[in-house]
Amino acid sequence: MADKFDVVIIGAGAAGLMCAAEAGKRGRSVLVVDHGKKPGRKILISGGGRCNFTNYDVAANNYVCRNPHFVKSALSQYTNWDFIAMIAKHGIAFEERDHGQLFCEDSAKEIVAMLLAECDLPTVQQRYQVDVHDIAKTESGFSLKLNTEQVECESLVVATGGLSMPKLGATPFGYQIAEQFGLKMVPTTAGLVPFTLHKEDKEAFAELSGIAIPAVVEAEDGTTFRENLLFTHRGLSGPVVLQISSYWTPGQKVTVDLLPDLDLEETLNAMRDKHPNQSLKNSLSRLLPKRLIEVLIERGDLVDKPLKQFNPKDITAMANYFHKWTIAPNGTEGYRTAEVTLGGVDTDGLSSKTMEAKQVPGLYFVGEVMDVSGWLGGYNFQWAWSSGFVAGQYA
Ligand code: FAD
Repeated sequence: MADKFDVVIIGAGAAGLMCAAEAGKRGRSVLVVDHGKKPGRKILISGGGRCNFTNYDVAANNYVCRNPHFVKSALSQYTNWDFIAMIAKHGIAFEERDHGQLFCEDSAKEIVAMLLAECDLPTVQQRYQVDVHDIAKTESGFSLKLNTEQVECESLVVATGGLSMPKLGATPFGYQIAEQFGLKMVPTTAGLVPFTLHKEDKEAFAELSGIAIPAVVEAEDGTTFRENLLFTHRGLSGPVVLQISSYWTPGQKVTVDLLPDLDLEETLNAMRDKHPNQSLKNSLSRLLPKRLIEVLIERGDLVDKPLKQFNPKDITAMANYFHKWTIAPNGTEGYRTAEVTLGGVDTDGLSSKTMEAKQVPGLYFVGEVMDVSGWLGGYNFQWAWSSGFVAGQYA
């Protein structure tokens, strides 16, 4: 005899646990299964162990999705304020960092403990190290095999996340389920990920590894972010690069304003008037890390000579160079280090109100498995909470 549940949720990550708690509160019998040993592994390592669990300012434009309106309903049914209220109810201390980002003051473990406490209901069961297979549609819902055991459910919720960090149990299983039931996919790629550089750039900039500067970076589609850019031994990283990587496709360039807070043309003209014999290297080293300027001179991008030898046209060109420093990434570090997966289950096939597949009653997708990726800053977890919550109301 097959074990019967109202709802089976595949994936005990952020979205799956949220959905389990909500469906359980409605009195639905819920089984959450995961192939990993324990719940919420990505939550535990997120935000440097402090989990950037949401943001004070959440809106649809903080998300990358082929349908930019899709996220609106879920984000309004379960808002960042709802999650903050849950955090407060559980007595978790949190702090605000730049750009409204909210982190646990103590540890991400508290978020997992909170979700497990919310799931601590007679209606909710959890099973780990479970291999899910043989999913099929039945008259009243779905049947599936968990290891060797046959299980049946009315609603099946796919909360298997994206492909980033395979070490933490990421698999394409959710995509395979979507395809099995005829849902379309948006091609996947790594997002919120460092750039790698072509050999020549990589070799030149590798010695700047560890240097961070505030910058504004623009993608070819006009999207811009302003945060720190970090040189690494393999390429470019830092929050501004992670953000723009979600708007970059191979072959494209990005434009970096290395001096977003000043008008370099005006500044260099003033320096030339005041200190005509000062070298370009010494002048620019007052504005940017000296090693960066030296590398740009060594590469032949800049010529070091006294300021008085630069005419106004040279100075305009130099200002353009620094305000529109153009770099062509070779690629990204890929899923190994990416924080999210861009693409996934096409939201066209899903109800934005419930997360249910339009053509397959009872089948739900929540969290990162679908074509919704947030900016850096707590937006991805907010999507997991909001989409998990709404599916939990209907599954
Ligand atoms: P996950 O949390 O990935 O959960 C999916 C679950 O499904 C996992 O437990 C997995 O084991 C299970 N699973 C997968 N395949 C199978 C299978 N075949 N069978 C059974 N179970 C399966 N976002 C933020 O908003 N703030 C942050 O601070 C932040 N920091 C991050 C740091 C890192 C290093 C990374 C990688 C990501 C970070 N993110 C952050 C993104 C965030 O972690 C994810 O967007 C979020 O966890 C997605 O939730 P989810 O429930 O959809 O998927």
